[in-house]
Amino acid sequence: RNPVVVVGAGHAGGTVAALLRQYGLTEPITIVGEETIAPYQRPPLSKAWLKGEVDADDLMLKASDFYRENEIALKLGVRAVRIDRDAKRVHLNDGEEIAYDTLILATGSRARQLAIPGVALDGVQALRSIADAEQLKSKLGKGKRLAVVGGGYIGLEAAASARALGAEAVVVELQDRVLARVACEALSTFLQNYHRARGVIFELNASVAAFEGEAGRVTGVRLADGRLIDADIVLVGVGAIPNDDLARNAGIPCRDGVIVDGDARTSDPSIFAIGDVTQRPLAVYDRMHRLESVANVLEQAKQAACAIAGRPTPPHEVTWNWSDQYDLKLQMAGVAFDTDEILIRGDPAAAGFAVFHLRGGRVQAVEAINAPPEFMMGRQLIAAQRPIARERLSNPAVSMKDVGA
Ligand code: FAD
Repeated sequence: RNPVVVVGAGHAGGTVAALLRQYGLTEPITIVGEETIAPYQRPPLSKAWLKGEVDADDLMLKASDFYRENEIALKLGVRAVRIDRDAKRVHLNDGEEIAYDTLILATGSRARQLAIPGVALDGVQALRSIADAEQLKSKLGKGKRLAVVGGGYIGLEAAASARALGAEAVVVELQDRVLARVACEALSTFLQNYHRARGVIFELNASVAAFEGEAGRVTGVRLADGRLIDADIVLVGVGAIPNDDLARNAGIPCRDGVIVDGDARTSDPSIFAIGDVTQRPLAVYDRMHRLESVANVLEQAKQAACAIAGRPTPPHEVTWNWSDQYDLKLQMAGVAFDTDEILIRGDPAAAGFAVFHLRGGRVQAVEAINAPPEFMMGRQLIAAQRPIARERLSNPAVSMKDVGA
């Protein structure tokens, strides 16, 4: 009976299986996952969960009996090691082989590691899984010193959470500003100031040469200029790498992720890929890109489930993402590819503003800080791709509804 096999029991794997049942698919569905826990949400691991505001149950994607009730078999604690496309079988590391008619790769991404001395010291870690988060949380507390390597969203969130727990936090960043890869300068500057006012120290333009330790435990971060930053815990947050080796080894084209089309289908019509592991088309921008966000997971899970269940392709969505730091709600939409103009609406000093990125007078991306209307209308403006009246967009006295009208 045409079995569906999902590799990866993360946000994407759990979501696509649930959608397939919701769309009426009656075929057997098996999810194979390397982690020993049912699909869960990672965003709170650096935010509410780390601060102790939500517990482990709140992280779970579905209630514990959901999979049984929906006849979705979960095979956890096992890794898929090879795809035999001719025989349509997935080989697992416990020796089992599972036959598929349709295969969905939802293997996500893993934390990039630094190849420098001291990475194996106890107390040097990444933040990707519940296990990582538990380890980090057990070491954070009043008076503890956290050094974050890499000023990306996860690192900044962890620094804010550490401050809330009474720990010291230093962020070491190679570039001259945090979020250099993903956000504009105005937002980076605003966030640095906001964090500094709450006790976070930034070491910018700083390269890490080694982690130093005593008796196998980390004691500090040695910078390339020779300075030592004392630390009890080091969080390495220097980006993620797609887990695309299964697909690549099976001869499926990959380029920083598994290449898929607008139905989340790979070059093999029986094999789909969704979530962090994909290199996917972004309709608004007419180009391929790899995204790491829950919104992307949900959109591609829907694309794959529709294609498999024989439903029409869902309309494309403008990608978005969020971050919580202290009392700030950041919401970002679109991607600022090749933009030529930046418009700021609102007052950054008042912690309520939005940055619009334009190309040829059309909105390509928006970064909103405590500004939900700007974010929501921003998404619509990105989708519409029509020229915008600059003076109205940058004037907070004109409502976003009127800007979009
Ligand atoms: P993953 O969540 O990585 O899941 C993939 C799963 O597949 C993993 O469990 C992995 O062990 C398993 N796997 C891999 N290879 C195999 C194999 N060969 N066999 C079996 N299993 C395998 N996004 C937002 O939009 N907003 C946020 O605020 C936000 N915050 C985040 C905070 C943190 C700390 C982290 C880590 C991520 C955050 N993200 C956020 C990103 C978001 O969580 C990811 O985009 C999302 O988890 C991707 O889901 P996925 O299922 O594609 O991959």
